[in-house]
Amino acid sequence: MLAVPGIRSRNWSREMRTIRTIAELRPALTPLRAGSIGLVPTMGALHAGHQSLFQLARAENDTLVASVFLNPAQFAERSDLDAYPNDLAADERLARDASVDLVFAPLLEEFYPVGFATWVEPEGAALGLEGEARPGHFRGVATACLKLFTLIRPERAYFGRKDAQQVAVVKQLVRDFNLELEIRVGATVRDPDGLALSSRNVRLSPEERSRARAIPRALATGDPDRARALLARSGLEPDYVALADLDGPTLAVAARVGDTRLIDNVLLEGAST
Ligand code: AMP
Repeated sequence: MLAVPGIRSRNWSREMRTIRTIAELRPALTPLRAGSIGLVPTMGALHAGHQSLFQLARAENDTLVASVFLNPAQFAERSDLDAYPNDLAADERLARDASVDLVFAPLLEEFYPVGFATWVEPEGAALGLEGEARPGHFRGVATACLKLFTLIRPERAYFGRKDAQQVAVVKQLVRDFNLELEIRVGATVRDPDGLALSSRNVRLSPEERSRARAIPRALATGDPDRARALLARSGLEPDYVALADLDGPTLAVAARVGDTRLIDNVLLEGAST
């Protein structure tokens, strides 16, 4: 055992496992239930934003589970789903480096088997912003999260502040269905120029990548009108620029850069997440 400050001692020599089926998942988790389980749900294409959630979860739980599931139900547009990076082997490498114990990468046909017909339809926090711009998005998110929480039964699940409305929807799901887990939130990880890391950033051309920097600059104004003007000057068309209460007054932006839709937000209380 290695004692790492701030991180619970664990057996570092333990091999990371990847599990693809529910039949394998259940017996794999049974012995681990003696300790706490932390879950980081992801859609894969892992980057340093996911890694920071792994770090947070690693420090707070005996077992770290990462789910990797490109959930078609939360994509409003087929082209967005088709263009989404999908490389489980690369995700496994990053997860292993981040000391993940178990990657759960369910098969689509088992997650949503033929005849699947029960969906969670969140209202409240799911209305407006992404809920309006991407019809059905939060229905897909909430349904997948409920299934993952039920299968894995973690003590804690970790979500990024970058998707602040998603955090609000998941907290609402936990509250409304009396789920016994704690939702923990990690700060948004950004590139040095301020652009929030996203699995979709790889799709940006160099010119688009440079124009995308207008998004964090727009958020930094803290003002919707100034943010809109700044985005317009960079030729970005926002789906929305809006003030919302997402665990505090928040300025949220969704904008297309070429074919790629990016979202970001900032808390307006002097916080820098
Ligand atoms: P995704 O794979 O995009 O569904 O993201 C999985 C989790 O990682 C979600 O809770 C996201 O909010 C979080 N996440 C994505 N990008 C970032 C980022 N740049 N900083 C922090 N968390 C992030």
